Amino acid sequence: MALPTLRKFTPETLGDQQRVFMRLLPRLLDFIHSKGYEVTLGDGYRSPVVFGGIGQATGYGHPSSYHKSRLAIDLNLFLDGIYLVHTDDHRKFGEYWESLHPMCTWGGRFNDGNHYSFGESR
Ligand SMILES: [Zn+2]
Repeated sequence: MALPTLRKFTPETLGDQQRVFMRLLPRLLDFIHSKGYEVTLGDGYRSPVVFGGIGQATGYGHPSSYHKSRLAIDLNLFLDGIYLVHTDDHRKFGEYWESLHPMCTWGGRFNDGNHYSFGESR
């Protein structure tokens, strides 16, 4: 499915949402690299088996975190080897991410700049 078509597709099942998320993610990564930045993987999937009860008790991850639904990824952003930690550092990438599909959500909207998710609203 080409991007213009994908943009108009509203995935309703969790599986379809996960697959569209993965279709779009490489476009974000390519965009980041095209601007001269680099990324490493932060948190991706958080298994409820590992992080469910414990995660909630220790504050590691909201009970309904999109990471637990395979619909969120945290990206560690670098420019010239410098690790960029501020939400604003991610802004141009977050806005690009949001432009890819109506369901793309950037964590910068809720003070979590390195968090990119699909279908999330807060
Ligand atoms: Zn996150």
